[in-house]
Amino acid sequence: MLRFQTSCYRSYFRYFVSHYSVTKVEKPLEKVYYTKLFINNEWHNAVSGKTFPTLDPSTGTIITEVAEADKVDVDLAVGAAKCAFKLGSPWRCMDASQRGQLLNCLADLIERDKVYLASLETLDNGKPFSMAYHMDVGETMKIYRYFAGFADKWHGKTIPMDGNYFCYTRHEPVGVCGQIIPWNFPLVMQSWKLAPALATGNTVVMKVAEQTPLSALYVASLIKEAGFPPGVVNILTGYGPTAGAAIARHMDIDKVAFTGSTKVGHLIQQAAGESNLKRVTLELGGKSPCIVLADADLGQAVKQCHEALFFNMGQCCSAGSRTYVEESIYNEFLEWTIEKAKTRRVGDPFELDTEHGPQIDKEQFDKILDYIKIGKKEGAKLMCGGERHGDKGFFIKPTVFADVQDNMRIAKEEIFGPVQTVLKFRKLEEVIARANHSKYGLAAGIFTKDLDKAMHLTQALQAGTVWVNTYNAMSCQTPFGGYKESGNGKELGEDGL
Ligand code: NAD
Ligand code: MG
Repeated sequence: MLRFQTSCYRSYFRYFVSHYSVTKVEKPLEKVYYTKLFINNEWHNAVSGKTFPTLDPSTGTIITEVAEADKVDVDLAVGAAKCAFKLGSPWRCMDASQRGQLLNCLADLIERDKVYLASLETLDNGKPFSMAYHMDVGETMKIYRYFAGFADKWHGKTIPMDGNYFCYTRHEPVGVCGQIIPWNFPLVMQSWKLAPALATGNTVVMKVAEQTPLSALYVASLIKEAGFPPGVVNILTGYGPTAGAAIARHMDIDKVAFTGSTKVGHLIQQAAGESNLKRVTLELGGKSPCIVLADADLGQAVKQCHEALFFNMGQCCSAGSRTYVEESIYNEFLEWTIEKAKTRRVGDPFELDTEHGPQIDKEQFDKILDYIKIGKKEGAKLMCGGERHGDKGFFIKPTVFADVQDNMRIAKEEIFGPVQTVLKFRKLEEVIARANHSKYGLAAGIFTKDLDKAMHLTQALQAGTVWVNTYNAMSCQTPFGGYKESGNGKELGEDGL
C-alpha cells in the first residue's frame, strides 16, 4: 500500500500569528439567525415540522431552535442536488473559471461578514472569539480561495498508448456528494468539504453537526447571495442516526465524506457498503503522540506540547494527547507544563484575552470528567485541574496527569478534552514502538535539535502528519488525513481534490 505522509518543519505556531486586526466584538444577539433547511436555494421547515435547540455552551442556555431534518428531507435535498447535477444544467454548463469566481465571491462575502461570523461561531460553539476570528474565519476564507484557484487548473492527460489510438483522461465530478461534519470547527470543516467539491463541479448535500448549526446556515445564505445555482449546495440541520444515516445509505448519493468519531466512521463505511458502494472518505479520531527528546529546546517543547493538547479546549482530532518525555528532562518538563496549564486563561469566550472556553455540550463535559475519574483510579497522578471551572456552562480546568502508563484508558482512548497525559520514556526505539501501539494514526509531534533523530522518527511514526518542533501547523496547501482507524483519504492541498 502506498503511504503518503505530510511532514512539516516549522518553528512557530501559526494559529497565533495575527493576520487581521479586530477592535470590537459584537455578540450576534440582535441579528436574526437562519434556522431552516437550505434546499434548492430556499429555506424550508422540516417536513415533520420538528425543531431542536442549539445551546450556548458557556451558559448552557438555548440560543434558538433549528429545523430537524429526517430521511424525507434528505430525499428532497438529494433530489435538488441531482437535478442541479444533470447534464445541461446551469452548473454543468458553467465555465470552470466561473465556478472559481463563485467560490472567490463566497470568500469575499465571508470576509465582509467576518466579525459577525466569528461571533456566531463563538456563541454556538463556545470557542474564544479571538480564535474564531483569526483562525476559524481566517482559514475558512483562505480555503475557499485556495480551491477557487483550482477550478480551471485541474487537467487530465494525453497518454501515448500503444497502437494507432488517441487517448486522453478527464477529471470528472463524482456527482452528488453527501458531507457530514462535526462541531469542533464548524466553519472550517464546512469549507474543507464544500470548497474542493464545488471547485470540481459536484453538487452537495451537507449535514452539519447538531451542536453547531448556526454559522453553516449563515454561510448557506452567502452561497445564495454569491449566485450559486439552486440545488448545487443544500445544507441540512438534524441528528446523526436519522439525517446523517439517511445520507450514508442514500442510493442517489455518489460519495460521502465524513468527519467525526471513529465509531460513526465504521457505520458510514458499512452503510456505503450495504447501499450503493458510494465512495467514502473518513477523517476520524486520534490519540496523537508528542515526543520530546532530551536535546529539545525545553521552553519551546513545553509551549508546543501544551498548545498541541489544549488548543480548542482539547476538542481537536489531531490533539497531541500523549506527551512522551525523555527520562532525563522529565521532571523539569513536567514542572513547566503544570505551570503553563495553571496559567491558561479560562473564561468568557467573548473576552478578547480568553484562551480557553467551555466544552461543546453536557455530554462531552460529563465524558471528560469521567475520564479524569478513571485516570485517578488507574493510578495516574493528577497534577492540576481535574474539575469544572465556574458554576455555569461546560467549562473544565486545564488538566495534567503525570506518570501515565500506556495501558491506562486515559493513554489509549480519545478524551477530546483538556486533559494532557505525560509519559516517560528511556530509548528512541522504545518510544517509537509505544507511540505506534495505537489503533489511531492521525498525527504526531517530535521535539529535538538532532536532525538524524528527527528524520528517523518522521519515517518510523505511523501518522498521516508528523510535525517537527511545531504542532498543528496546518494550512490549505498541505494535505491532511489519517492512517489506520484515523480514517482514509486526504483533505486540503491538491490531494483534497
Ligand atoms: P459523532 O461522530 O457522533 O458526530 C459527528 C457527525 O456525525 C455529526 O454531524 C453527527 O450528527 C453525525 N453522526 C452521528 N451519528 C451518525 C450516524 N449514525 N450516521 C451518520 N452520521 C452520524 O461525534 P460526536 O458525538 O459529536 O462526538 C463524539 C466523539 O467523536 C468525540 O468525543 C470525539 O472523540 C469524536 N469527534 C471527532 C472529531 C474529529 O474532528 N475527528 C470531531 C468531533 C468529534
Ligand atoms: Mg450550540
